[in-house]
Amino acid sequence: MSNTEKKTSMYENVMHEFNKAADKMNLDAGVRKILATTQNEVVVHFPVKMDDGRIEVFTGYRVQHNNALGPYKGGLRYHPTVDINAARALATWMTWKSAIAGIPYGGGKGGIQIDPSQFSQAELERITRRFTYALGDNIGPDYDIPAPDVNTNAQIMAWIADTYASTKAPSQRANNFHVVTGKPVGCGGLEGRDRATGFGVVTAIKKWVKAHNVDLKGKTYIVQGFGNVGYWTAHFLSELGAKLIAVQDHTGSISNPDGICPEELLAYAKTNKGGVGGYPKAKAINNADFWKTECYLLVPAALGNQITVNNVKDIKAQLVAEGANGPTDSEAEEVLLKKGIAVIPDILCNSGGVIGSYYEWLQNKRAEVWHIDEVLERLQRKIEHSFDLVVEASKEYDCDLRTAAYIVALKKIERVYKERGVFP
Ligand code: NAD
Repeated sequence: MSNTEKKTSMYENVMHEFNKAADKMNLDAGVRKILATTQNEVVVHFPVKMDDGRIEVFTGYRVQHNNALGPYKGGLRYHPTVDINAARALATWMTWKSAIAGIPYGGGKGGIQIDPSQFSQAELERITRRFTYALGDNIGPDYDIPAPDVNTNAQIMAWIADTYASTKAPSQRANNFHVVTGKPVGCGGLEGRDRATGFGVVTAIKKWVKAHNVDLKGKTYIVQGFGNVGYWTAHFLSELGAKLIAVQDHTGSISNPDGICPEELLAYAKTNKGGVGGYPKAKAINNADFWKTECYLLVPAALGNQITVNNVKDIKAQLVAEGANGPTDSEAEEVLLKKGIAVIPDILCNSGGVIGSYYEWLQNKRAEVWHIDEVLERLQRKIEHSFDLVVEASKEYDCDLRTAAYIVALKKIERVYKERGVFP
């Protein structure tokens, strides 16, 4: 692990980015005050019985940043770095992301401060169910809708949906499985939600390269994080003929200049507790060298604050496409841009996840079953449109893509507050 996530500065980054864009677009002073803080912050401490009979107490978070555009929406993360500041930052990014995508959601995020690899499946199930119970009506299908994030998956979403429904009156049970998205397909999940974020990342990359007359065929790329987002991004990039030459995850870094097959690496990782370390068809490199890899494209798809002043000078890619939330800190981004390295910002680049979640939610609310081709087609159109809006704003305000993405989001939210007013 080269750069561990700094616990407090993701929030500093999001506020820095927000203030920069608010100044640039001259955001209404009242709206600025509203958006500069989170609306609700729920912290729960709850007991769980371990396999050996011991009782442990866990701490869970759910932060709801803003719901001007619709119900709070955002993932749940199980990771030692989860704390109130991380949840605040991630919830705030969700507000901007939903606004840019033009979907009727606000922003929320949460999780539990645990390393899930330390628990059995049965313990993880009890932790998840008890966390859901502790959150109670702080989440809900039309109020706040969680989804998978780091170390949470479709199985965990199914446990949450089942617990939420099981603790309601029998007459309400069938109607509220859309309290979470990213469920298994058999439990109301959407075909294609698994790949939605990676597909969206690649859609954004395709838009960028098309605008710059670049052919991705044969272009080299490296990926940090080989979980849901990292793997699916690699899958779709490799379909376009791009060559994966290095990967880093929590088990180490690997490199092969002749190319790494994402499907073979995924098959290996499945036998290796999800980790890429020790993959026999690549050589192990140290984590610092991963960032120095000569390549066309870098996709950070793990945690926040991974590209910092510590390693930004080493980066040789021409394009950074942010699959993760907050992977580049504000100082490092300035360096990247000065070096002429373009950045497709997280709130645009990885928005395929929340858009896919929106389609799942619609599918559940309308009691429909959507086909994967329809899902991916609609997703692609939405991200292409968002990309165009951000590029237009960057031209209008003569600014980088991240600031432009914020401006697109802030304008939409500002308009709603101006139209609706502030109660009373
Ligand atoms: P995941 O749990 O499936 O995968 C996380 C990956 O990060 C794993 O490969 C893990 O090994 C790696 N990792 C963890 N700690 C690391 C470290 N210190 N150094 C290097 N690698 C490390 O999670 P995910 O759903 O793929 O999410 C990855 C990122 O994408 C997160 O920032 C998340 O917020 C963001 N994101 C996810 C979605 C989604 O739909 N899942 C949507 C938008 C954004």
